[in-house]
Amino acid sequence: MQNLVLLGGGHSHAIALRLLGLNPLPQVRLILISDVMEAPYSGMLPGHIAGLYSHQECHINLLKLANFAQADLILDRAVSLDLEHQLVICQNHVPVPFDYLSIDIGSTPATNLISGAEYAIPVKPVPQFLEDWENFLEEIKVIKQSDRLSLPKIGIVGGGAGGVELALTMQARTDCKIHLCHRSSTLMSGYVPDIGHKFAQLLQQRGIKLHLNQTVNAITEDISNKALHCNSGLTINCDRIFWVTNATAPDWIKNSGIATDIQGFIAIDHSLRSLSHPNIFATGDIATIKDDPRPKAGVFAVRQGKPLYQNLRRVTLGKTPIPFYPQKQHLALIGTGDGRAIAVRGRIMIGASKLLWIWKDRIDRKFMAQFVRL
Ligand SMILES: Cc1cc2nc3c(=O)[nH]c(=O)nc-3n(C[C@H](O)[C@H](O)[C@H](O)COP(=O)(O)OP(=O)(O)OC[C@H]3O[C@@H](n4cnc5c(N)ncnc54)[C@H](O)[C@@H]3O)c2cc1C
Repeated sequence: MQNLVLLGGGHSHAIALRLLGLNPLPQVRLILISDVMEAPYSGMLPGHIAGLYSHQECHINLLKLANFAQADLILDRAVSLDLEHQLVICQNHVPVPFDYLSIDIGSTPATNLISGAEYAIPVKPVPQFLEDWENFLEEIKVIKQSDRLSLPKIGIVGGGAGGVELALTMQARTDCKIHLCHRSSTLMSGYVPDIGHKFAQLLQQRGIKLHLNQTVNAITEDISNKALHCNSGLTINCDRIFWVTNATAPDWIKNSGIATDIQGFIAIDHSLRSLSHPNIFATGDIATIKDDPRPKAGVFAVRQGKPLYQNLRRVTLGKTPIPFYPQKQHLALIGTGDGRAIAVRGRIMIGASKLLWIWKDRIDRKFMAQFVRL
């Protein structure tokens, strides 16, 4: 019997587990280690923040999925890897031995170099972010019901696709004044500058205050409010600060001795296999394909799900894994929080339109339905 351990309940693992449930592997003990019972689906997360989807609609029930795949679910957080002895070390559970390991644990926004980072709410881990968001919505409800005229001010740090979508959806949900800080001169790094300019116009039309070329280096808090401090000397007073900067990998990955890229993400080949440890696979945000990286976006984690399943199947049957070449460009459908969406591919941007939202909504609901009707 071989131990196949899936670490993290990310998008690729959700798909692989479903396929493993449909086509079980002979002579393999399947184990899923996850620090959450319900895994958020990134495509619907902004819609949930906008109040368009319930918690249940945008979360995958990992217990149900693990049962379907006949996998043992260990509800715990991995804290390191002992590669010599082929063990996953968890916070509470005894070390978990593996013959094959697959890692899909996502990423978190970088806050470690910021003084006062504890006053901001990082958007990942998602469960903590959603709890803070729900508390904030309660506060706003109380303010709206009382005679107090001014709504809280929101600061968002990071103007990538995630930060832009968050700004639009938070504004649509709360009517709060929003300040968005971004360190470059153009929003949406990873897209052509023209797309960034168009999104900047859209945000300004919606009354969102943009602070481009502003690198936040500190956050302070006093009795009345919080403040964002930028390298330029600019200070922005806010009541809540959300942190959506570039993705980072946890230190324990690099410290384990597995090959990583310069940023600490697991270096993999096109067959999704670690460059240093052939019995370890990695997908989604935590992995970077050497010399052919893709953006850290849920859509790529989703696309890697089926090839991951196929290669896990192959290696446990003693076969060589096969390469997978994801598309260079992808169609991004970005919700604007008001029941409309924008489509972006390469230089082309269409919308915002209700029809695009209906299309996006259909795609996302279809994706989630496969984990409900197992
Ligand atoms: C606000 C926002 C909006 C976004 N919107 C979109 C979008 O519309 N479209 C898009 O393509 N991308 C979007 N993204 C990016 C997207 O969230 C990520 O690229 C995507 O979630 C990555 O998927 P993943 O499978 O790598 O990991 P994740 O979806 O992050 O899943 C990783 C899982 O592993 C678990 N885990 C983590 N560490 C451990 C550990 N040590 N032990 C055990 N379990 C662990 C986590 O709890 C989580 O369940 C958005 C991001 C943000 C912040």
